[in-house]
Amino acid sequence: MSLTLLAMADNRLIRQPAGRNWPLQRLHLFAGPLSVRLLAYRNIKTGFFMSILKVSALTAALSLSALPSQAVPVFPNSDYSNSVASVEQILGYPLGSRISEPAAIKQYFEQLAAAHPKRIKLVPYAQSWQGRPLFYVVIGSEQHISQLPDIQQQMQQLANPQNISDGQAEQLIEQLPASVWIANSLHGNEISPAESSMALAYHLLADQSPQTAKLLANTLVYIDPLQNPDGHNRFVSRYYATVGLAHSADRLSAEHNEPWPNGRTNHYLFDMNRDWISLTQPETRGRVKALQQVYPLVFVDSHEMGGDMGYYFSPEAEPYNPHIQANQRQSLQWLGENNARWFDKFGYDYFTREIFDAFYPGYGASWPLYHGSIAMTYEMASARGHNYRKADGEILTFADGVQRNFVAFMATIETASQRAPQLLKNFYQYRKDAIKQGSSGAVRSFIFPAERDSAGHTKLSAILTEHGITVAKANEAFKACGQSYQAGSYVINTAQPTYHLIRTLLDDTVPMDKDFIAKQEQRRANNLPDQIYDVTAWSLPLMYNLPVDSCNRAVSVASTVVSSERVLAGSVTNLQAEFGYIVPWGDMAAARFVSAALQQGLKVKSSDLPFTHQNGKQYPSGSLIISKADNGPQLAEQMQQLATLSGAAVTGINSSWVTDGPNFGSFNVKTLHKPNIAMLWDEPANPLSAGSARFIVERNLNYPVTAIRPAQLTGADLSHYQVLVVPASSRGSYQQALGSRGLANLRSFVERGGVLITLGNATDMLLAGDSPLLSSKREYKVREGDAKKAETDSKVAGSIIKTPQEYQQWLVPEKADPDWVPGFIARAEVDQQHWLTAGVPASVNSLYVGNQVYQPLTIADGRNVVRFAPAEQLLAGGFVWDENRQQIANKPLVMVQEVGRGQVISFTQEPNFRAYVDGMHLLYINAIFRGAAHANPLR
Ligand SMILES: [Zn+2]
Repeated sequence: MSLTLLAMADNRLIRQPAGRNWPLQRLHLFAGPLSVRLLAYRNIKTGFFMSILKVSALTAALSLSALPSQAVPVFPNSDYSNSVASVEQILGYPLGSRISEPAAIKQYFEQLAAAHPKRIKLVPYAQSWQGRPLFYVVIGSEQHISQLPDIQQQMQQLANPQNISDGQAEQLIEQLPASVWIANSLHGNEISPAESSMALAYHLLADQSPQTAKLLANTLVYIDPLQNPDGHNRFVSRYYATVGLAHSADRLSAEHNEPWPNGRTNHYLFDMNRDWISLTQPETRGRVKALQQVYPLVFVDSHEMGGDMGYYFSPEAEPYNPHIQANQRQSLQWLGENNARWFDKFGYDYFTREIFDAFYPGYGASWPLYHGSIAMTYEMASARGHNYRKADGEILTFADGVQRNFVAFMATIETASQRAPQLLKNFYQYRKDAIKQGSSGAVRSFIFPAERDSAGHTKLSAILTEHGITVAKANEAFKACGQSYQAGSYVINTAQPTYHLIRTLLDDTVPMDKDFIAKQEQRRANNLPDQIYDVTAWSLPLMYNLPVDSCNRAVSVASTVVSSERVLAGSVTNLQAEFGYIVPWGDMAAARFVSAALQQGLKVKSSDLPFTHQNGKQYPSGSLIISKADNGPQLAEQMQQLATLSGAAVTGINSSWVTDGPNFGSFNVKTLHKPNIAMLWDEPANPLSAGSARFIVERNLNYPVTAIRPAQLTGADLSHYQVLVVPASSRGSYQQALGSRGLANLRSFVERGGVLITLGNATDMLLAGDSPLLSSKREYKVREGDAKKAETDSKVAGSIIKTPQEYQQWLVPEKADPDWVPGFIARAEVDQQHWLTAGVPASVNSLYVGNQVYQPLTIADGRNVVRFAPAEQLLAGGFVWDENRQQIANKPLVMVQEVGRGQVISFTQEPNFRAYVDGMHLLYINAIFRGAAHANPLR
């Protein structure tokens, strides 16, 4: 029989009767197989056992995890001072006994910061869409907190090795504290981390033991208690609304099944754990800025996962992004090992390496790695409420999660404290090596020629700047690597401390480990799913569809460093024009212009064809025409104001005469009517698709959208709307959700002149029923070899399966979907003759995720205005299985079919994916605004 000895402080339980701290320690002795428990209390100071309380049998299920929730936090040898208020004292309930709402969490930290200003400082860094403040706190010794501005400034010096000598760096490394940043509950329904942040703050401030003093003597602890207050609030309010007389542990109960959309995402339903590449959300933007003021050496992103799963911490699963450096992986190993040591002490299960890879750079647990820090995700099994009955029957409590995260945080802080000089040294060395690699490798500069899409270039360079990358805009023409570039081109020299981030964000493809890919191919050959956790490509130039060159020499040209302004003021030439104004179509500035102009009630026309004006300038198809005759006397002022806000380049013209292409009175020039846009918004919509589809219209264009629940569609009068957007679905189909009456209503909406836009797999809805709205079909997987015969008898003719490969083929059902594609950047070709593609270049890039392949429309039915490139050119970035590449090639990406007086427009892949494939956004905007202009309702 083996005896496991667990020693832990449980002061909270002990101090309650007397209302003050007793220097006592409780020992739990587990006699494993017999489940016999011995409890003893020991006076810490004298070392004497005071009493042996209990010898009792207990069930296997009753272990430390079943400690009453009041017992959080629990940590050995802690000695809590009464001078620091507990959660219970401030919020009125013991920590772990209730899921705190964002306002309560904020209240607790504000009171700690107000009561102990010498040891904890609260710093606001952003505001959520719903107006909730985001903030972090920093906890440290009095000395460090008083020197905080200096410390942060010194970290910034260390982060910029080009400005200091090695000697200065050594000095800084000697004197600077280590730092850990613990970020919590980015997914708002992953509830325990936010609560653990209060446990940690309380413990660090209240514990008077030498061990905590030792940690804080050389380590600063940054805590971001709640990264997603809007999502968390959504979870908490709806969770408590479902609770009855007693909490249910049953996973079937309403308590454990959130209504749509769940609390994972923020207000615009973004998964912010994918947003660190493109910084689309205010929460992410604020965080990235704060991190670059602090440069924490260790960053923990604390999450929850499925309730049956235990606890996960580093090291991460394969594949690793090759831009992560060897000593970073070494540190991940140290941190994991020390977490494991503490988890062993407490008897907590954990696992490492099997899932949660470190390849995609847009996770919270990734981004700091490309700045030289160590970053990791921790994942606790989620009780998703107060109690959760696991598959093995054990009850997991909310407090269990709070306690385990807390222990992981303490272990992490201990590692950072123990390894402080090494971590500081590694950070400095990383940044220094990065500059060296950027000044000696094959890619020493990236150059964006910036010949079109000025708004896209402005936005991308601003985002790179927010990432801490220096981007310069050339003031004059120059040559590099044999190419000539005009003034206004953007240059990024790679000799920067962010070299690895630059390469990760700008290269077409970040290579995945060959052995890992070979393993995935083996799994597929064995009919097993792949282990790729997220998309395999995220190259920003590809996603923005902006050409970029790389050069093996640094570029030297007179230039101006760009700012982080994503929209620059536009301009009007010839403001007092006699006829009116033209705005060239083709970028988001023009799209913002038209959005604002229509909302101001201006009459705007748009040409379906390119034209050349008398002034000699060529304008692309889609260009806007605003005439004085059509509009009011204030037009010049309105143009000035709209150009400033939107960034559009407006040209005043004295005459309407064109020398090539249609005149403005042509039937090829359409009036853009201000559309009322509706969007389906509830089950079965994929919240991510619904959120980004709405976000792009509302926040990139500043144009309102009405969200409608699919259940309303059966009897709804849609005549008020001109455009209806149907997001991709995640669970269930629209056919089921809408039923025959809902689908009939949609058909009549289109026939009367509405524009129906489907995103991703919502296209399936158009193909169903007796009178489908789109004459395409979705394809099954291409079968190799002989198709299996459908036999109905229980005995069949004999067959010979010759090879293991044939055997695996045999197992695949005849009507199987193509294999799932984790996500690559696919090149697509644009039919530039069509009104739907106005202003769009001849080639665009789309993210391709999933397994949908649709047949092209015949010319009798409609047009395939964008189709995927031939197989040899299809792959623009990332990785795709060869069979899928062959099958996707030349298939439609965007289809349009006239139905009655209206238009049906299908995007077979999500054009708004994470709102970061900016090169696709103009097609989506064309579908809405130009689609509405090309429908023919009775007006
Ligand atoms: Zn999560």
